[in-house]
Parts: sequence; structure tokens; C-alpha cells
Amino acid sequence: MKSFTRKSIVSTILIGSVVAGSAFTTLPFTKVMNPVASAASSSFTQFLHDNAPGRTIKTSGGLATVTNLSSTVVLVNKKRNLPSTYAPQDLVVPNIPFSFSGSSPKKQMRKVAATAIENLFAAAKKDGIDIKAVSGYRSYATQKSIFDRNASIKGEAVANKTSARPGQSEHQTGLAMDISSASAGYDLQQSFGNTKEGKWLKANAHKYGFIIRYGKDQEKLTGYSYEPWHVRYVGVYIAGEITSQNLTLEQYLERAK
Ligand SMILES: [Zn+2]
Repeated sequence: MKSFTRKSIVSTILIGSVVAGSAFTTLPFTKVMNPVASAASSSFTQFLHDNAPGRTIKTSGGLATVTNLSSTVVLVNKKRNLPSTYAPQDLVVPNIPFSFSGSSPKKQMRKVAATAIENLFAAAKKDGIDIKAVSGYRSYATQKSIFDRNASIKGEAVANKTSARPGQSEHQTGLAMDISSASAGYDLQQSFGNTKEGKWLKANAHKYGFIIRYGKDQEKLTGYSYEPWHVRYVGVYIAGEITSQNLTLEQYLERAK
């Protein structure tokens, strides 16, 4: 994936030049551009253009499948499926505390997201915030068994609100992690959002490139109930934009025609 690598580098340049370590800013590009950022900006615009929802979907046999599988802004939801055969090639286990011991595939994330989440956890520790990772990468097959089990217990309609169908889970991208705290019993419940740790995560995730993917009052836009525990890596600059403007990933990418 030659072009992806190039774009990642361009995004890194842009983050360094424009955002420059500040929490996030909505300064217009033109006000802060230097020659390097200017060159990166046009490539960044191209990057968003290439990843626009309308350009990254292929429908076959009634199934809409995403085509930018290894992009950091890959958009997966109830209308956009990952192929059943897709597994990221660069999964690693981040060096962060988990809520369980032993080795497990769900400790993994893609390299770029793993490095970012290590930074997020280090910052939390520095702020005296005790959080633990609960669940990261999930294969298509694992997602299928989770959904089938939930559907058999709660019925398919309810299961579809709270768990993803196979191919429709961000956990299959290797860019998502569920996080909880002792104060929430390491559970994945909305009450985590009211804990000190959940509030810290909401206020700080974007600084490390993550968004709270399924926000409060965004159910109609994302198709999922509020999940204060589920963070998704999109990169520092984009996470800042999405968070400061209170957008969903769907809305942000739709704007990038
Ligand atoms: Zn999740």
C-alpha cells in the first residue's frame, strides 16, 4: 500500500505543522499555513477526497463493502461492511494495562493505533486516572459469534443496537478499543461516562488521535447507542476537528467530497 504510506507521512507533517501539540484548534488552514503545511494541506485534502464515503464503497450482491480497508479513516457502520476475509496485517499488543490477564487476540490493535493508545494511557496515568483496556481487535468470526449469541438472548433488533453484525464492527479494523475503569467495574456500560475516568477520556482522547465514536445524542447518526467506552483512532488532527465540532465520523467524512 504505497500510497497509504505516503499519505500517512503527509498527515503526520500536517499534524506537526498545523496542530503543533495544542489540544485542538479550529483555526482555518490559511491562517496558519507555512510552505510545508501548505503542501501537506493539499495532500490532506486529497487524502480526505480519496476516503470520502461515496468513493470507498463497492456494492455486490446487495452487500456494500468498503474499499479503503487499511485507511486510518475507514468508515464502517451498518451500511458499510468489511469483507469477512479482512484482517489487518500490522496488529500488535500495545503496552497498556488490560482489565484481564493472559494473552488474547482482543489485546491487539494496528501499530499506529497501538502507539497512540500507549500515549493516551501514559497521559491518563500522569493525571492520576486509572483506566484499563477491555477489548480491541476482533475478527469477523468472533464478531459473528458475539452477535449471534446476543441475538439469541435479546432478539435481533435489540442486538443490532448494542452489538455490531459481523463485518460491521470497528473492532475488526484494529483501530478501536473499549476502555473502562474499576469505578465502573470494568464494565462496558453507559455509567462509565459519568465516572471521573470516563469524563477524562471524553475530554482527552482527541489529543492522542481518538474519538468517542458513538456519542451521546448521536444514535440517529451512528446507528448505535451512546458508548462512552469505545474509542476509535482517526489521527490527532481529524480527532480534534471531530471532537471540537461535535461531529460523527460519518458527518466529517461526508463533508470531504
Ligand atoms: Zn467497542
